[in-house]
Amino acid sequence: MKITKIMKFGGTSVGSPERIKSLVPLITGSESKIVVLSAMSGTTNSLIEITKLLYGGDKKTASDRIEALRAVYHKVVDELYETDEYKKTGREMIDSHFNSMINIASRPFARLQERAIVGEGELISTALLHKLLLEKGFRAKLIPAMNFMRIDKDGEPDYYYIEENLRRELRKHDSKSVLITQGFICRNVKGEIDNLKRGGSDFTASLIGSVLKVEEIQIWTDINGFHNNDPRYVENTEVIRELSFDEAAELAYFGAKILHPSSITPARDNNIPVRLKNTLHPEDEGTLITSSSELIDYKAVAAKDGISVIRIRSYRMLMAYGFLRKVFEIFVAYKTPIDMITTSEVSISITIDNPQYLREIATDLSELGKVETEEDQTIICIVGDFRMKKTGSAPEIFEALNTIPLKMISYGGSDISLSLLTDTSHKKEALRLLSKHLFPH
Ligand code: ADP
Ligand code: ASP
Ligand code: MG
Repeated sequence: MKITKIMKFGGTSVGSPERIKSLVPLITGSESKIVVLSAMSGTTNSLIEITKLLYGGDKKTASDRIEALRAVYHKVVDELYETDEYKKTGREMIDSHFNSMINIASRPFARLQERAIVGEGELISTALLHKLLLEKGFRAKLIPAMNFMRIDKDGEPDYYYIEENLRRELRKHDSKSVLITQGFICRNVKGEIDNLKRGGSDFTASLIGSVLKVEEIQIWTDINGFHNNDPRYVENTEVIRELSFDEAAELAYFGAKILHPSSITPARDNNIPVRLKNTLHPEDEGTLITSSSELIDYKAVAAKDGISVIRIRSYRMLMAYGFLRKVFEIFVAYKTPIDMITTSEVSISITIDNPQYLREIATDLSELGKVETEEDQTIICIVGDFRMKKTGSAPEIFEALNTIPLKMISYGGSDISLSLLTDTSHKKEALRLLSKHLFPH
């Protein structure tokens, strides 16, 4: 069966019975498609809270929270379905998921159980939509993501497995059905339940779209596409109508929450357009991400929090050959990716976004030089085509930020981006100043 389109709906797009009902006209057109759903907004956060309580041994509060969430879903079912028959089967479906969570909560708790609980939100939202389509008389089928979505031993998607198994699932169904699957959840190399990290439903959509070579991957959310700055911190941000894969990947990696950081890679590798659309305004064209895009000097800004910086001052000359290799090998040993690097004659500064082994890395590095670490840092990434500037640089950025203490500057690594490091306490002001100077109205 040839699938032409992937339509992924995020948490707010399935966040209430009303919102779920509003998806029906969008997904029941004649085009063959796979619909990918996130959990209803807030659910994954609640489930993570529950797993934290269970890790802390507080079974009573965890069970109370599970019951509170069950009550929320009973209400959703009552409002979502019209007929008594569907209200009843909907309730039974909800109860079977929540009974299994109560059961997990009553037993010894570990990572495997944690991931099973965290993935329940997507199983429930897809079951809710599936039943709604059936109640309304549409042909609809659920394809369990656990039957085809898989990551390898490094946590990377196992493309071969995904394609083989997804195609096998598709052979079971006819092209007239609306096919629905869960975002976010997957199996790991041991076959256990796992997930693609927070916001991972975008990644699911892009992986499915890429292995099936669809015509378009659509990410439906609560805003009219990619904005030129983070609307959570800055007023009067504007939608960008065209972005290149490289620009979108850079912005997503450096914190633009609208897209999961890895979600552009599979689409770019297979040259499949990605369109960001708003479920609240389906008539809006949204943002189209393709291999080419309009050349604009300053296009967008994003910020990524939770960054740690490590500075190493070498006891000898830094550039003595072999020194950097020794530094990088320590990061490899702890499987910790590096985001930004700047160097001088005797020192090097490196940022990481995963502080899990920060202390161990610092200890090992101290054999090579004097080490300092700092947490609570933010990377600000500015994307544009700086080659368009007559000066060949980006002077407006530094003029805009002349009141913000900058700790690192990375420029020249790519033609389309410039990254800066500052304390997280300066983030909001830095984003605001960049909008004011780079995107004046
Ligand atoms: P979903 O639940 O649909 O996956 P997300 O909350 O993950 O939605 O992503 C959409 C949100 O991303 C928007 O509501 C907005 O607050 C935030 N956001 C951050 N940066 C941007 C940006 N540059 N453009 C658009 N939205 C952004
Ligand atoms: N429900 C998951 C999360 O909240 C996945 C997603 O929304 O994409 O992270
Ligand atoms: Mg998201």
